[in-house]
Amino acid sequence: MSPPALRVRDLTAAYGPVPALRGITLEVPAGGVAAVLGGNGAGKSTLLRALSGVLPFHGGAVTGGEITAGGTSLRGLRPDRIVAAGVVHVPEGRHVFARMTVAENLRAGSLGARDRRRAAEARDRVHALFPILAERSRQPAGLLSGGEQQMLAIGRALMAGPDLLLLDEPSLGLAPLVTARIAGTITEINRYGTAVLLIEQNAALALRLADHAYVLETGAVALHGTADELAASDEVRRRYLGVA
Ligand code: ATP
Repeated sequence: MSPPALRVRDLTAAYGPVPALRGITLEVPAGGVAAVLGGNGAGKSTLLRALSGVLPFHGGAVTGGEITAGGTSLRGLRPDRIVAAGVVHVPEGRHVFARMTVAENLRAGSLGARDRRRAAEARDRVHALFPILAERSRQPAGLLSGGEQQMLAIGRALMAGPDLLLLDEPSLGLAPLVTARIAGTITEINRYGTAVLLIEQNAALALRLADHAYVLETGAVALHGTADELAASDEVRRRYLGVA
């Protein structure tokens, strides 16, 4: 059996003296989809920043625990080495390069790619997934709608040919129809073999897409199980799905 796409054991992280992650243990199977749910400030973004190595750039640090992806230890690696190890982060708020064209944004995502032929294949795949990005290739990314910018952010991440995609709130601020479109693409990306760790405030969406889910509260895993188990849990229904 392949090693899991991601394995996190007892991960702790802090912003200065303030703990933000308090012993997180979770797993994303190879080719699987796992979701992390939780309210504001639960530590969801901090978890992804710790995994992709960008936490120090936000004033935080990993203080303990283990992170492995496909059997390789990521702990302490620089963000570019983590991308090279096949783990790519799409941060909350998209962060596309607004003045650069769509094509340039995609190229920026392939800088870590192993060779040009693969980069061209990745671009063709991204264009097939998001035809609008091919149509808008020469436009500055800043002129795209919010949903299109989210597609570009995901497309840019795919240019590196990841084994595991870390998605932070891809539905944030998007209309339901656009969210449904993005959700469909996440399923499609996964069908081609890329594992996904999905952070979402939209718990209904996350539980539809994921096989397993984890609920974070104040930096710790409060509940975990299959998506079906969590969707049936009274606590999850009351607190995260808005069902009385
Ligand atoms: P949200 O959905 O609101 O972004 P979240 O679950 O992603 O919430 P985090 O952003 O990871 O939560 O925040 C976890 C805790 O760390 C919160 O208490 C937050 O105030 C704190 N925190 C986040 N970023 C920083 C930072 N750069 N410096 C100091 N504290 C931070």
